[in-house]
Amino acid sequence: MPPSIPPSRPTPREASNLSGPRDRPAASTSRPEGRSRGTRRLRDAIAPILALVSLAAAFHFSGLAPWVADSVPEAEVLDPALERAVERAIRAAERDGVELRVTSGLRSASEQDELWRAALDEHGSTVEASRWVLPPELSAHVQGLAVDVGPHEGAAWLGEHGARWGLCQVFANEPWHFERLTSKNGTCPALLPDASVLLDEDAR
Ligand SMILES: [Zn+2]
Repeated sequence: MPPSIPPSRPTPREASNLSGPRDRPAASTSRPEGRSRGTRRLRDAIAPILALVSLAAAFHFSGLAPWVADSVPEAEVLDPALERAVERAIRAAERDGVELRVTSGLRSASEQDELWRAALDEHGSTVEASRWVLPPELSAHVQGLAVDVGPHEGAAWLGEHGARWGLCQVFANEPWHFERLTSKNGTCPALLPDASVLLDEDAR
């Protein structure tokens, strides 16, 4: 008789995680059972302390306040449609003899948080800072949905021709920042004066 083999189970995987260069190992959910009531009681007693310690470690490593870390929809890669659009635009710019390159694309929430804190230091208020940098939970860069381009001439060229690939300048004061925002008829929305309009009323 052949040995019985347990049926193999496919590993569940999120559809959005296909590229997976940053796959995280599955966290172990099982814990060894304590051997006696004494160790169990001890474990129950220190559990809240352990939870606090691991929470503190998580803040330490992410560098983010917990409410920020929880609310940021952080992307693993630049949106593939945005990447394709930008690649096409770069080739077309080249044919026009214009240099166009991406100066900043996907950012992690902690990178964005650093930029945000630096902007707060520099500009002194939430509203002034957000005219130039958004906090992680509002930044399209953290969601993989925005690119900054340069040099100046290339950004101006993209502002003029980008809608062909769905690429739109978003903020009047940031001629380098582009997102895929064209409507079905291929036009870009009206420019916003600056990014501070995206701030919640109560964050002002
Ligand atoms: Zn940007």
